[in-house]
Amino acid sequence: MHKFISLISGSSGNATFISDGRTNLLIDCGMSGAKLKESLHAIDVMPENIDALLITHEHIDHTKGAGVISRRYNIPIYATLGTYSHMNAGNIADDNIKIIKSNTYFELGSIGITPFSIPHDASEPVGFTFSIDKDTYALATDIGKMDESILNSISGCKCVLLESNHDVEMLRYGSYPFPLKQRILGDFGHLSNDVAARTALALVERGTEHIMLGHLSQENNRPEIAMLESYNLLSRSGVNIGNDVTLQVADRYKPTIFKSE
Ligand SMILES: [Zn+2]
Ligand SMILES: [Zn+2]
Repeated sequence: MHKFISLISGSSGNATFISDGRTNLLIDCGMSGAKLKESLHAIDVMPENIDALLITHEHIDHTKGAGVISRRYNIPIYATLGTYSHMNAGNIADDNIKIIKSNTYFELGSIGITPFSIPHDASEPVGFTFSIDKDTYALATDIGKMDESILNSISGCKCVLLESNHDVEMLRYGSYPFPLKQRILGDFGHLSNDVAARTALALVERGTEHIMLGHLSQENNRPEIAMLESYNLLSRSGVNIGNDVTLQVADRYKPTIFKSE
């Protein structure tokens, strides 16, 4: 059975698990080793059984526990050169450093993986698509600007974990200092709820069946606001939610399983 699960999601930390029952992959580890163990325990996976850790980019909400778990469980880290050289994983065994290239397909066990470039204020950041048998899955967060190239990369994926970071008004009128607001709103920051909603609609029109909104800001968003923004646009556009597509919001602190089975 395929599993695609958000373990934790949000500006406070991110980690995603994907498995086909033979190969177990963790994407990002923005939490401590102890918290990872607890999250995996909740979905009946032992950390020892993780075959590889893939990293989207060096920001701490994606890499906090990466070095620790690589050392503790002897897990190889797959990252672009830009990401790996900026992420400060500490001492990692040479054999466990695996440099990948964006837009270059590779396989780990029985899972096919394509990293795709994303605009974000990091060094060589990527999103990922995964293919297992004939199903495809996408992780698309930390994206400053949605463009046709990213949309093409994730189009047709059955399940998409899509960033819905902030409500533009909450951010504009909120307490963040001006430069930070500019960074988040800029082309190398994060996707707003309204861009996420438009992206969700484009994805549904191109065949996506399950969408999970994730990487929500703690300050400038609420799960119900992110959900409503996508829900309203999809329904107004004639999409039957629950029938044509399932729509969920990833929990900040605990595992959220795609409603794909
Ligand atoms: Zn980031
Ligand atoms: Zn992030």
